[in-house]
Formats: sequence, C-alpha cells, structure tokens
Amino acid sequence: MSEYINGILEDLKRLNPGQEVFIQAATEVLYNLDPLISREDKYKKHAILERITVPERTVVFRVTYVDDKGKPQVHNGYRVQFNSAIGPYKGGLRLHPSVNLGVLKFLGFEQIFKNSLTGVNIGGAKGGSNFDPKGKSDNEIMRFCHAFMEEFYRHIGNTTDVPAGDIGVGGREIGYLFGKYKKITGRFDGILTGKGLNWGGSLARTEATGYGLVYFTDNMLKKAGLSLEGKKCSISGSGNVAIYTIEKLYQFGALPITASDSNGYIYDSEGIDVALLKELKEVRRERLSEYTKFRPHAKYISVNEYAPGRNGVWDVPCDGAFPCATQNEVHLADIKVLYANGCKFLAEGANMPSTLDAVNFMLAQKDFYFAPAKAANAGGVGTSGLEMMQNAGMTSWSFEEVDKRLRGIMNHIFEISYATSEEFGDAGNLVLGSNIAGFRKVADAMIDQGYV
Ligand code: GLU
Repeated sequence: MSEYINGILEDLKRLNPGQEVFIQAATEVLYNLDPLISREDKYKKHAILERITVPERTVVFRVTYVDDKGKPQVHNGYRVQFNSAIGPYKGGLRLHPSVNLGVLKFLGFEQIFKNSLTGVNIGGAKGGSNFDPKGKSDNEIMRFCHAFMEEFYRHIGNTTDVPAGDIGVGGREIGYLFGKYKKITGRFDGILTGKGLNWGGSLARTEATGYGLVYFTDNMLKKAGLSLEGKKCSISGSGNVAIYTIEKLYQFGALPITASDSNGYIYDSEGIDVALLKELKEVRRERLSEYTKFRPHAKYISVNEYAPGRNGVWDVPCDGAFPCATQNEVHLADIKVLYANGCKFLAEGANMPSTLDAVNFMLAQKDFYFAPAKAANAGGVGTSGLEMMQNAGMTSWSFEEVDKRLRGIMNHIFEISYATSEEFGDAGNLVLGSNIAGFRKVADAMIDQGYV
C-alpha cells in the first residue's frame, strides 16, 4: 500500500477513535483505490481522499418520547450527510440499539459509492437512532417516529436530503415520519422514499433490494458460465432484504433453505416458505422461532447452540450464501466452513456483512465468486431514486416498469464494476471494480466543483 494511503488511514484512525466499523469501511475503499490514485495524480492534487472521508455535515440531536407506561425515554438521533457532490443526500434511517456515530459513518460512507454506482444522481448519507423497536407497541413506534421528526424535519428536503428505511425502519415507520413532517411544515413533499403506495410510494420499492441482489448475482454467475438454477442457497436475516431475496431466488430456479434473526436460524430442507415468512415477519411481527409451528419438518437452531464466535447459519452446506442481516456477520471462520462445504459464491444483501479477512479469503479463491454489498445491494436505493423521479414528475409507473428499470440498474452496476476490474488488471474482482467505479464519478464531480 502506498505511503500516502496509509497516512490518510492513520489520520482517520487518530481522528475517529472508537469508530472501528467506519475505519473498516474506509480501509477497504482506500486500499482498493490505490491503483487509481497512483495512476492519476489529480485526486491527490485536489485532496479528494482527505475530503471524501470527512462528512460534509453531521447532525446529532435528542429524541424524547413517552412510553406506554408514561415514562420518558431519551435517545440519540443522528444524520450523517456525507457527500452531495453528485446529488441530494440519500440513504436510510436505522433504528437499532447498536446505532452510534461510528456505525452511521460507516454506512454513510458506503452509501456515497453505492449511490454513485446506481447511475442515479444521489449523494450519500445515513441516519437513525439507538432506539430499539423490538417489543415496542405500535403507539410507542409512532410516538418515537414523531419525536424524531420533530427535530429532523429542518435537515431534510426533496432536493437536499431524502432519507428512507434501513434496519428497523419499514413502511410503518416511514408513514409516521412522513405524517409528522407534513403536520409541521404543511408540505406534501417527496422527502422520504419507501412511502405507502397510495401516497407517493413506488411499486417494487419494497422488493427492490432483494430482487436487485438476485439480478446482480445472476449477472455475476452468468459471466462465469454458471447459473442460479438448482442452487441451494443459504440466507441470513428475515427482514425486507432477506424475504425478497428468497422470493426472487425461487423465480430463478434456486432453492433458498435458511433464514435467521438475532435469536437463531431456520433450516428448511424443502425450501423456505416465503408466504409464511412474510406472514410472520411483515404481518404478525413475530420471532422466527414461530416458523416451525407451521412447518414441523423445518429445524430451528437457537444462537445458544452456535459454536463460540460463529454464525450458525453458515454451517448449513449450500452452493451460495446471501448474508442479508447486518454488518460483520460473516467472519473468516464462517467463510472457511462455507467454502469447505462446497459453497461457490456469496452475494451481500446487508451492508458490509463480511469482515475484511473474510473478503480477502473469498478473493483469494479462484473458484469462488463474490458480490460486494455496495454493488450487489444497490437496487434498494436505486429504486428509491426511481421513486424520487416519479414524485418529481407527479406520476407513478407500473410494477413491471419499475422492475425493468431496476434490472437495468443492476446490469449497469455489474457491467461497470466488471469493466473497471478488467481495466485495473484484476478481472472479476468486483470489490476493486465497484470501489473504483463508484469513487471516480463522485471524485470527478468534487474536482469540477472546487474546494467546498
Ligand atoms: N438503507 C438502504 C441502503 O442501505 C436504502 C437507502 C435508500 O433507499 O435511500 O441502501
């Protein structure tokens, strides 16, 4: 690694103590940019790396709501507006007890390059709170979302910053957030994506991340002369990304056999019953352990049974793995087990689900295909971009139209990432290709716009 890149990373570590996941994300991007930075000196000359690693603006605020017992509850609210060189800030809101500034900086940083890859002109951001929606009543969720928006409304706008969902934020939460925004401002603006279908939402937005992930994987496997047909696939997670990955995998003739939540995982050798999964998670909001009550042949393995330091879901032998839960859920030990069991590809639905050493292991295997998150899961935010276009034109497109455009976006991301990996002499290394391709568009826009 060049001294210049190492120096930038050392400064980042010094200035961002305790933000390990942000440093992890930055390390991957900066290492992959090394061949570009050493080939073209304009990026160094214009201090692009020094600037792109610092958020343009970070907002931290207090959110207080009253729980069902009448007790005030206090949380931190955040928005990291990382980069607006190519468009308004765009990225989800995450509600999870693990949320802190470091987590949101890693997510916001990744979002810059992911959004750039989509070909839609949107900048990178992320936000959320350490509020834990698990076990909360519908009224508590509403009161929290309203309290969050009471401060947050002043930082967003349809041409400035357009948030959306992420872990813990789906259609219900977007509805409550939107209602409060409208109440305070009196404006019916497209300030959030993932909206309800009868008030400005886009068809296929709910399905988009999972569908897009499978479209991307299909491209990657085809390039290698392989296909999804007949492949046994292990999926982690049971939220929106996992559910629609499973649904789309069936349409490509694959057999999805696992799903998980933070308590354990399901192994269904006949294939995950996607209608049941939707009913349990989207309608009843139940834990995954309920699944075996309806499918008694399926196995439920609780986290207590996992080997220490391992994610049990990856013990199930499969042809392909789709981590769709959260960051750092695939460790080196996990990927070694997957590979030893015959797994031939891994496509990331979650953001940064694989640790750096797991990624390096995958890249080192000549017979293994790896689809990195910022390319493979960009279909969600890409379709958010399509929702913004529909809102701006006061129109709505059919499901088929949005799905066709989503497929176009995923094909484009695969092609540009593959072509860039070839250009830099490591054909098929989509980590290298996606990082350089995503970066180039943003960096060149920053150069055009001067030192702001
Ligand atoms: N949270 C999603 C992501 O990680 C979607 C963001 C959006 O639609 O703005 O890309």
